[in-house]
Amino acid sequence: MARYTGAKCKLCRREGMKLFLKGERCYGSSCAMERRPHPPGQHGRRRGRKPSDYKLQLREKQKVRSIYGVLERQFRIYYAESVRRSGPTGEVLFNLLEKRLDNVVYRLGLAPSRDAARQLVRHKHVLVEGAVCDIPSAQMRMGQQVSIRPKSRNIPVVAEAIKNTARRERLPFVEVDDQTLTGKLIAEPQLSDLPIPIQENLIVELYSKV
Ligand code: SF4
Repeated sequence: MARYTGAKCKLCRREGMKLFLKGERCYGSSCAMERRPHPPGQHGRRRGRKPSDYKLQLREKQKVRSIYGVLERQFRIYYAESVRRSGPTGEVLFNLLEKRLDNVVYRLGLAPSRDAARQLVRHKHVLVEGAVCDIPSAQMRMGQQVSIRPKSRNIPVVAEAIKNTARRERLPFVEVDDQTLTGKLIAEPQLSDLPIPIQENLIVELYSKV
């Protein structure tokens, strides 16, 4: 499955905010946004002109793609699906992204980042309703039990995520049992619950022009 393999910190610097793409490193002083909080590249420090509407829309879309680790082609498929479904397009799009299995594993605090969560899923360490599911993009339903396979609970990336889970804000739409490392979605994810602000209307404006 295709995924972005370039430098993660450059994505944060490009958007001018922490996107928390690297797990524990994002909370320490070695975070690139603490050391070089300007856009990457030769002209990164230059003060730019007032951004156009198009630029604002494009940057918002790229930011959301970076957060969820979704490439352009797949993102367009999510957008097309959100147009097809009933409800406000931007909210449906966000809902589809939040309910991806790799994102749910991350939100439950069972992995330090979405990349790590995706790898746990791909390597068959994650169970959905007691059965292995190795598809990171699988859509989770409300109440479906997501857990780490018992044999895999001591692998370092999981142990580290559990140890540091207090550092991360647990969102109100998930519930997790720290003893059994089992969790589930207990409510529909809301944009207002997220630690990183997302302006979904800008993404809809961008794609509705194409
Ligand atoms: Fe972004 Fe994390 Fe890199 Fe900081 S350490 S720039 S938050 S990916």
